Amino acid sequence: MEKNKKDIVDISVVVPVYNEEAVLFELYERLTTTLKKISDNYEIIFINDGSSDNSLQKINSLVEDDEKVFYVNFSRNFGHQIAVTAGVDLCKGKAVIIIDGDLQDPPELILDMYKKHKEGYNVVYAIRAEREGESFFKKSTAALFYKLLRKITMIDIPLDTGDFRLIDDRIVRYLKQMPEQNKFIRGQVSWLGFKQIGIQYKRNGRKHGETGYSLKKMVQLATDAITSFSDIPLKTVTRAGFLISLVSFLVIIYALYAHFILDKTIAGWTSLIFSTMFIGGVQLFSVGIIGTYISRINKNVMNRPLYIISDTNIGKDLL
Ligand code: UDP
Ligand code: MG
Repeated sequence: MEKNKKDIVDISVVVPVYNEEAVLFELYERLTTTLKKISDNYEIIFINDGSSDNSLQKINSLVEDDEKVFYVNFSRNFGHQIAVTAGVDLCKGKAVIIIDGDLQDPPELILDMYKKHKEGYNVVYAIRAEREGESFFKKSTAALFYKLLRKITMIDIPLDTGDFRLIDDRIVRYLKQMPEQNKFIRGQVSWLGFKQIGIQYKRNGRKHGETGYSLKKMVQLATDAITSFSDIPLKTVTRAGFLISLVSFLVIIYALYAHFILDKTIAGWTSLIFSTMFIGGVQLFSVGIIGTYISRINKNVMNRPLYIISDTNIGKDLL
C-alpha cells in the first residue's frame, strides 16, 4: 500500500513493553517533551508484548488522552526483537526511534540522534559509554559476546550498542524485506550499510521492575545473532572433523605398528575411554551446531506470522 502524505509523520517512536507499568507515564512525559522540540508531527507506538502487569491499562489511558499515541497488543509474549519488528512494520515515520520501555535509554538523547540524522545519516545508534547497575556477569558476557560476534561475522556490528537508535525510512523499507524469523535487528541494520554513526551515552540502571531478558533469552539472542550472520561455526566443525580424522589415522597407524611390529599392545581402558569420550563429545557438539542451523531453516520454512496482534488502534485490517 502506497502511503499518502497524510499517513507520514516526521518521527515515530517504537517502544516494546513487557511489564513496565511503573515507568510508562514518566516515559511518555519525557518522550513527549523531547519530541515536541523536534516536530509536532510525531507518533509513539507502544507494543505490549504479553505483559502480565498493568502495562496495557496504562498504555490505553495514554491512548485515550493523546491522539499521537498508538498501541499494539500482542496475543502473548513474543520477545523483544519481535515487538520491535512489529513497531517498525506499523509505524509511518520518516525517521524511526527504537527505545526500551524501561527508561534505561534516556529519551532526551533523541534530540542528538535527530540532529545527526539531519546531517545526513541513515542510522544513528547509541553507544553505551557507561552502564549503570548492570551485573558484572551481564557486562562481561556481553563484552565477550560482541567481540566474538565481530570476529566471526563479516559485518561490522558496533560494540556496546543495543537497539536504541534512529533509523530512517529507507532502512525501514529494507528491514521489511528481511522477514527472517530469528531476529537480531541491530545486526540486520549494520548489514544494510548506508551512512551509520554512533553517539555515546550513559545507560542508566533499571529503577523499577526487572529485566525481561532471562539468561535463556540472552543465549537465544546470541545464537540468533551468530546463525543469522555467520557460517563460521559450521566451517569450524568441518575443519575440526578433518583434523581429528587426520590425528586418528596417525594413531591407528601407530597402534597397528606397535601391535604387529613392536609386538606390544597399547594399554587398554584409559586410551579407549579417552578416545571414545573425546570423539563422542565432538560429534554431539557438531550435531548440535548443525541442528541449530537446521532449526533456523525449519522456522523459516514454516513461515508462520512473526507475531499475532490481539488488539490495536492502528487499523482494523491488522486484526
Ligand atoms: N521486552 C519485551 N519483551 C520481552 C522482554 C523485554 O518487549 O520478552 C522489552 C522490555 O520491556 C524493555 C526492552 O524490551 O522495554 C528491553 O528489555 P529489558 O530491559 O528487560 O532488557 P535489558 O535492558 O535488561 O537488556
Ligand atoms: Mg532494560
